[in-house]
Amino acid sequence: MAFDLVIGQEGPKRVLERALQRGRLAHAYLFLGPDGVGKEAMALALAQAILCHTPGAWGCGTCPNCRKVATLNHVDVRFVFPAPPKLDVDREREILDSVAREPYARLRPWANPVIPIERIRALRYDSSMKSFEGRGRVVIIAEAEAMRAEAANALLKLLEEPPPATTFILTTTMVQALLPTIVSRCQLVRFSLLTPQQIQAALVERRQVPVEQARLIAGMACGSYRKAIEWLDQDLNRRRDEAIELLRVAIRADHDHVLQAEQLRQLGDKALVKEYLRVLLGVFHDALVLTTLEQDPQAAGLLVNFDRLDWLKKFVGAFEHIDFDAATGAIEEAMARIDRNLELSLVLIVLFQHLRSALRRKRNV
Ligand SMILES: [Zn+2]
Repeated sequence: MAFDLVIGQEGPKRVLERALQRGRLAHAYLFLGPDGVGKEAMALALAQAILCHTPGAWGCGTCPNCRKVATLNHVDVRFVFPAPPKLDVDREREILDSVAREPYARLRPWANPVIPIERIRALRYDSSMKSFEGRGRVVIIAEAEAMRAEAANALLKLLEEPPPATTFILTTTMVQALLPTIVSRCQLVRFSLLTPQQIQAALVERRQVPVEQARLIAGMACGSYRKAIEWLDQDLNRRRDEAIELLRVAIRADHDHVLQAEQLRQLGDKALVKEYLRVLLGVFHDALVLTTLEQDPQAAGLLVNFDRLDWLKKFVGAFEHIDFDAATGAIEEAMARIDRNLELSLVLIVLFQHLRSALRRKRNV
């Protein structure tokens, strides 16, 4: 089964396998879940299962159809994603190739692109024709929340008068950003965060990452294989040192935080700041583990930054009290605000304030 290539997500796999085996596929699916957990990979796997030539295989992975789906070269598969309206063919091919290479890490070179209405209109035209290979069509719309009203209404019309033998697969991280009338016409399939163990195993098997490094990255990936892959290209230790330095400055009472936030803003790199924040989530996770499981010999096995045990102990020891909910909540909120394009230095000043009040100090670290 093509679903074997999807990491974890046993629940969604069961739902889709059962539907395939009973010949009762829904006409439209909405894959809902966090970024980087395999919604697009599953959409490709489902497309293979539908279009596969090998009887009963549900996506053998080797027949010409499966291969064409996997490389996004199949005439009966459309893969729509947010992009500038005038996307030339070569650029589109480049993005599709990135999906074919690694369905967990589609290239996203643009800031806040939308799904152009033209693309949805083109689907309408496509679907008025018979499928080329006769097994039906699959339309994948990635990040469906990136449709503006016009595009969403055009899609709604398509879903209301479904073209024959066409399966729609929408993916989204934000169901509330979709038209309720679209949502109600789709079967909802919920995807969950991956476990660090699943990510670690996938890094070792698929990317031949050494086990220890895979464990470290998996711990920092916050349940997303996409984030794990991004970490592969980076100097993890350097990023971690920089993030810890940021934390140190953030919680120093005497520091000029406005200046610090301004310096970070000048970096201008929201993605980088978000990486620092992800590292800090790992640090607070570890601090919580050390605080609550102090005497437990199992504790070390739960740490993200297991290779920095001494520093972590020093960090925890420096505070009389750490309000973990407040600290992690503030970091997560800051990440969400960055995603919502709020002013970076303002987001950071607020975050620093919250971190300072979440940590009651004994002495300097
Ligand atoms: Zn096949």
